[in-house]
Amino acid sequence: MGIYQIEENLLRAESFIAEEGYSSLQHACLELRLSIEKVVYRKLAKLGDVIPPAVYKAWQPPRAMKLLLGFEPRADKPATVAICLGTVDGGPSGEWVELGEYRMLPVKWLNKNYNKLGKFLHETCLEEASNPVSLKPEDLEKMIVELRKVDESDMVLGFNRISDFECDCCRTKIYVSDSQINDCSEISCYNDLCGAVFVVAPDTSEQFKTDRKFSNSDFACKDCGDKNSLDSVWKEGYLNCWSCKQRYFVAWEKVKVAYAPESK
Ligand SMILES: [Zn+2]
Ligand SMILES: [Zn+2]
Repeated sequence: MGIYQIEENLLRAESFIAEEGYSSLQHACLELRLSIEKVVYRKLAKLGDVIPPAVYKAWQPPRAMKLLLGFEPRADKPATVAICLGTVDGGPSGEWVELGEYRMLPVKWLNKNYNKLGKFLHETCLEEASNPVSLKPEDLEKMIVELRKVDESDMVLGFNRISDFECDCCRTKIYVSDSQINDCSEISCYNDLCGAVFVVAPDTSEQFKTDRKFSNSDFACKDCGDKNSLDSVWKEGYLNCWSCKQRYFVAWEKVKVAYAPESK
């Protein structure tokens, strides 16, 4: 059995493709979407109890995959894991033993194909005659080949340590990996209505600190009193309070430069 347990879905997809016809192809699409979801969620489940599944299961795979890549920039690259049992002067020496191969769907592949499958599924509500089939059985077969490769790899790689902190505006729990902390990465709040941006950095050996990218641009909502951030607002326009939805207009002061020669 494959490590992501999607073989049954892939076999069902193949038999739907063999049946031919529009609705069979749609059933195949559904099986492939489920396979992609299983792969991404299983990978996230490797984080153990750090992130409750309820958090990421509410997200679609492209977004969940983005979170994964934030944690571990190499998460979508194939890798072979090997250990060396012998050491000489503190360095590896002698034979390396291969432990296994790790493969993951590249994030570009995932975005493209997941959306493609979704589009095909949603065409059900449109008239079939006026909407020629844009997805060919060959496209689906190619996806099956890629998914099977990932399923047949030997291991699901774990992650470096994951910690969490609370958004100081909307109090959403945000997760960071050690590699993000060491790289002093920027992390946006997961709450789309909030938009606060943080910079994480190492502090003492076991701790990390978070700073807001633009700490002086917060304001308290007049109606509900909750703190709102302007971190993600780049041009003049409306902004709704993340908490009570009250609307505000944000205008940036123009920088004024005046000619001011000193009198001689
Ligand atoms: Zn927030
Ligand atoms: Zn408010």
